[in-house]
Amino acid sequence: MKRIYIKELKNFIGQEVTIKGWVDTRRDQGKLVFLDFRDMTGYAQGVILPSATAVHSVGEKIRPEWVVEVQGKVNQRPEKNIQKEKQNGDIELEILSIVVLNEAETVPFDVKSDGQEIGEEIRLKYRYLDLRRPRLQRNLRMRDKIISFFREYMHQNDFVEIETPMLMKGTPEGSREYVVPSRLEKGKFYALPQAPQQFKQLCMVAGLEKYFQIARCMRDEDLRGDRQPEFTQLDFEMSFVTQEDILSFTEAMFIKMVKALFPEKTISQTPFPRITYKESMEKYNSDKPDLRKDKTNPNELAFVWVVDFPMFEKTQEGAMQAAHHPFCSIKEEDIEKFMKGKDLMNIRANSYDLVLNGYELSSGSIRIHQSEIQQKVFELLGISHEEQQRKFGHMLEAFKYGAPPHGGFAPGIDRVTMILMGEPNIREVIAFPKTGEGKDPMMNSPFEISVEQLKELGLKLENEKRN
Ligand code: ASP
Repeated sequence: MKRIYIKELKNFIGQEVTIKGWVDTRRDQGKLVFLDFRDMTGYAQGVILPSATAVHSVGEKIRPEWVVEVQGKVNQRPEKNIQKEKQNGDIELEILSIVVLNEAETVPFDVKSDGQEIGEEIRLKYRYLDLRRPRLQRNLRMRDKIISFFREYMHQNDFVEIETPMLMKGTPEGSREYVVPSRLEKGKFYALPQAPQQFKQLCMVAGLEKYFQIARCMRDEDLRGDRQPEFTQLDFEMSFVTQEDILSFTEAMFIKMVKALFPEKTISQTPFPRITYKESMEKYNSDKPDLRKDKTNPNELAFVWVVDFPMFEKTQEGAMQAAHHPFCSIKEEDIEKFMKGKDLMNIRANSYDLVLNGYELSSGSIRIHQSEIQQKVFELLGISHEEQQRKFGHMLEAFKYGAPPHGGFAPGIDRVTMILMGEPNIREVIAFPKTGEGKDPMMNSPFEISVEQLKELGLKLENEKRN
C-alpha cells in the first residue's frame, strides 16, 4: 500500500492506510497499547485494540525510536477524547499491522525535550539524535524557509546566484583565516574565504551587476554564542547603486520576509531608524544598540541602521587597520582629509550595519572602484607597494579595466534565524555546528592527519612525536 504522510491522515478517515516513521512514545495500558508515531510531517496517535491479537506480540516489544511501517484504519476520536491543541488530536490510527524496519537502542538522552538541559558536548556527539527534537526540526525547517525567501527575492530582483571558490587567497575581514596546504605546490597554501568579498567585487567588474550567494564564510576566531568558525550569509553586490539604494532594497526585503514567515512578530519602527556610528556610541555606548521598547516581548523586532562607520581604527598594539575592510569607499565630505592623509581616525566610510535587537545582522559598504584610491587606502594602512601587489594586485589591476561603482551587503543567515526563532545561540539553528571550543565531537574534528599525508603535503610538525 502506498505510504501516506502523517499530516495527511485526517483526509483518510474511515480508510485503511500505511504510514512509515518512528515510534515516538509508547504507553501500555494493559489491554490497550498506545503508540505515537512521527514522520517528517508530524505526529499521530495509534492504538492496538484488544481484538488485534496478532499485532499485540509486535506491540509488546516495540520501543521508542524504532523505525516502523504501520498499516491501520483512521478513526475519528469520540468527542471526549479529542485533544484540540495536538496535531491529529481528533483522529486515531487503529493499528492493524506493524512491520519493524529497524530497531533502536535506548537513545543517550531525551530527544523529545527542549534539549537545553543536556550538555553541549553530548548533544553534538549525537547531533543526528539531537536534531530529532521538535524544536530543532522547527529551527532547521524555518531556516530553509528564510533562505528560500531570500533566494527568491534576489531572483525576482534580477540577481544572479554565483558560487565563488572555497579555496582562495586570503581576504581581509579582520579575522585569522583557515588555511589548506597545497599538495601540488608544496609549502604553499590556500585560504578558506572569510567572505567572498573580493570575488563579488570582481563579479561587478565582470559586468554581472547584481550578484548574490548563500555564502559559507570561515573565520578562525575565538568563539562566542553568536559566532561559529563557519557561518552562512546572504552575500550580495550591486553595480551603479548608492548607499540609499542598498538600504531601501534590504529594508524592503526584511519587512516582506517578516510579514510572510513571522506574521506574529511586529517591527517596532518602519522605516527602520537610522543613526550614525558616532551618535550610537555617544548615546548607547555601542554600535549595536538594542532599541526594543519591551525587551521581554519575544515578538518585538527593533531594526536599526547604523551608518557612517569610521574607515580606520587602531589595533590594541596601536597599528592602523581597516575598521570593516579596506575596500570601503570614503565619505565625500572626508575625501580631502583622506587624500592628504590627515586626521585619519575621523575619516568616515560609506559603510553601514543593520542591527536587530542588539545584534549586528549585517555589514556592507559602497566600495572603492578606482585603482589609485584603493592603493591610497593600502598605503595609509601601512601596506608596502610590494605587499599590495602580492596580496591585492588583481584588485588594483581589475579596477583599471572599467570597474563600475558598486556596493553590497551580507546579512548573516544564522543570526537572523536565531533571533527570529527566539534562540539564545546560533548553534541552535545550524545543523552541525562546532562546540564553543571549535570542535565537532561527532566526527572528531579537528583531527590528526597521518604521517603519510603530512609527507605528501611536504609538512613537518613541530614537536612531532609520531614517526
Ligand atoms: N564582506 C563583508 C562581510 O562579510 C560584507 C560586505 O561588505 O558586503 O562582513
